[in-house]
Parts: sequence; structure tokens; C-alpha cells
Amino acid sequence: MKFFALLPLAAAALMMTSSAHADNAAAVSDQIKGMYPQLSTFYQDLHAHPEIAFQEVRTAAKLAAEMRAIGFEVTEKVGKTGVVAVYKNGAGPTVLVRTELDGLPMEEKSGVAYASKAHALLDGKDTMVAHSCGHDIHMTSWVGTARTLVALKAQWKGTLLFIAQPAEEIGGGARAMLDDGLFRRFPKPDYAFALHSWPAPYGTIGYNSGIVSSNADAIEITFKGRGGHGSAPDKALDPIAIAARFVVDVQTLISREKDPREFGVVTIGAINGGTVGNIIPDTVRVRGTIRSFSPEVRAKLIEGVSRVANASAAMAAAPAPDIAITLLGRAVDNDDALVQRTAPVLKQALGDKNVYLMPAMTASEDYSEFVNEGVPSMYFFTGVYEAKAVEEAARPGGKPLAFNHSPYYAPVPEPTIKTAIEAMSVAVMNVMAR
Ligand SMILES: [Zn+2]
Ligand SMILES: [Zn+2]
Repeated sequence: MKFFALLPLAAAALMMTSSAHADNAAAVSDQIKGMYPQLSTFYQDLHAHPEIAFQEVRTAAKLAAEMRAIGFEVTEKVGKTGVVAVYKNGAGPTVLVRTELDGLPMEEKSGVAYASKAHALLDGKDTMVAHSCGHDIHMTSWVGTARTLVALKAQWKGTLLFIAQPAEEIGGGARAMLDDGLFRRFPKPDYAFALHSWPAPYGTIGYNSGIVSSNADAIEITFKGRGGHGSAPDKALDPIAIAARFVVDVQTLISREKDPREFGVVTIGAINGGTVGNIIPDTVRVRGTIRSFSPEVRAKLIEGVSRVANASAAMAAAPAPDIAITLLGRAVDNDDALVQRTAPVLKQALGDKNVYLMPAMTASEDYSEFVNEGVPSMYFFTGVYEAKAVEEAARPGGKPLAFNHSPYYAPVPEPTIKTAIEAMSVAVMNVMAR
């Protein structure tokens, strides 16, 4: 009897939860429809006026003004150019939602009407600037999510901690905010969410538990030789030959030393040395990046890069090189319990087939700094392109899609931003439900 009495109750409880989710999803999507025209203007303005890492002054001021207008208490210049916006709505959990602020030092070639023509000074040199990683999509969705949540504040309680982080592209922005007291001056979050645009079909969300991005370490090595005449190498010590040997041999760390089932990459992206063909230079500077998921592979590659660099110099009887390997960002580790709790509401809002498990990306993110402060977090991906274009790109010989950081990267704004707001809003409301 007990059994029978309990069963309908349990079923009723389940139905209530799931219909509450459906109500949230419907209310959220109603809100978004009304606000999109204004968000579109906001997005195009951000896109046309990108700023590089730690120079995001105009961008930060725009976000701060929007958040004040929505009713948030806003603090600017947290970690140089960062913005913190707090909205208190009764007793309940504190939930962090992050966006980045920065663009990239590159020329945009997307051809969109609102393409960037912006310039900036980078290390004293003029550079063009573009939002080619979609951080303008994230900022617009961040504002849209804030507006949606405030409009629906009767349906949740707790504190929203919306943060706009500087300098994601060079690493260091998240750390700058934490060092400036982010979790001391403002409430420490119980949960955190962030999203990133991705060249998948718009209307879809990719997610996973555990590691979703890579550890990134920067390599900077100066090989030392002895300059001289190109015709008399015996009177000199050629650092170009040493650097060349290093660049080739360092790849055996990946092919011969690392467990082939584990992810790991070493890329040398810059070699600088010499001026003309008949002078042997004194030094050659080599710069690169190491990417890994596990701490074990990371340690092996760091040790290996130093060992191969030293051995390349020793083989030429050259002085030991100067080697600097600097951590740029650790892998983002999604909290399994939060992911299991959030995935069903994303599916309810966007449809089962539009919310899919996605393998970890090999790119990196300093958002991990916030997570590693002990905040259960979920970082997920939002698609930006027409499904047909994505299908075409997947076919052998098909037209490739512009990836993040391509000068041609051009998300389709409306469906991308709407999906991002919808996903983020239902995810946040789910952990703050009354
Ligand atoms: Zn990027
Ligand atoms: Zn990015």
C-alpha cells in the first residue's frame, strides 16, 4: 500500500520539477525575443570597436553602464580593466557568470558590414584589432542573461555575480581579478558558469564533465652561439644550426616519449635570429607552446623541452641556452555533479538533439583560475554557424569553416546570441530555483 501511495507522489513531484523547467524555458525565450533588437545594436558596436588585452577601457565602460541600467551594483577596474556586477535577490546561492572583454591583435577579413577597423598599440607597435574569438558574442549574451534573470527574479533567489574578465587571450586576466580581491571583496560563488562560441551549428550546446580545455605553457628559449662570417663557420659558433636541430628533435617528445593515447602538443611558432645570408648571428630566439590535458603529460613535456634544448646546444659545444617555460593557464575541469544537474535543463530548453557531448578542446582558457579556487563550475560551448555550412565543412573536400582566431571568423549573431542567453539563463535559474 505504501508503495502505491508513494509512487503517484513521486511521479507528481517529478512532473512538477520538469514542468517548472519547461515554464522557465518558455519565460526565458519570451524575454529574449523582446530584447534582441537592442542587443543586436550592442553586439555590432562591440564587434566594430574591439580592444586588446588589458586595454579594454571602452568595452568595460559599456558593459558597466548596461549592468547599472539593469539594476546591478557595479564595480569597475577590478584586475586592471575587469568589471564586477552584483545583484542580490534574497537568501540563496551565489552564482558567477563570466564573460571575457578582449579582442585579438589581428586584421578582420570577415566582410561583415560591422567589421572592425580598430587599431591599437601592442608593445609600442601599431596593430589592427578584431573580435575573432567571439568574445563580443559572450559579452552580449552576458548582458542579455543578466536582463533575463532580473526580469524573472520572482522565479529564483540568491546572488548573481556577473564578471567581465580582461586579457583572456594572453592569460593573466582571471588571475589579475583574483589578486585584486574578487572573492574577498565580493561574495565567493557557490557555482560558476561560462560559455564559449564554437564553429558548430547555431542553436546547439556542446558540453562535458571533467577536463574541457588544455594546460598551456609558453616556451621561450635563447640559443647562444658566436657571430661571424658566413664563409668561415669554423671561426664562429652557429646558433641557427642549433635552433634548427632543436625544432626538429623536440617533436620526438610527442612521437617517441609521450603515451600515444594521451593528448600533448609542442608547437614552435616563432624563430628569430640573424639579419642577412652571410652573417652568422650571436643568438637565436625560439618561442612556442606546450599543450596537455593531464599533469603527468605536462610535466614530461616541460622536462623534455628543456632536455632537448640543452642537448642541442651541448651537441654543438655551445653554452647552455636560456630557457623559460611559463604556465599560461591550466585545464578547465568541469564539476561532474553540476554538469549532471545542468544538462537536463539545457536539453529541455533547446531540445535533446541540440545538446551534445563534446570532446575536450585543445585550446586553453584562464577561466580555470576561478574554478581552481574551489568553485564547482560548468564551461560549455555554443555553436555559431548555419548547420548546412558545418555539414559541408565536414565532407571530404568541403569548404572549411573559419575557426576561432581566423580573420574570417563570423558567427551568425542572432541565433547564436539567443541560444547562448537561453542556455545560460536556464542553467543559472536551475541552481537558484525557489
Ligand atoms: Zn581566443
Ligand atoms: Zn576566446
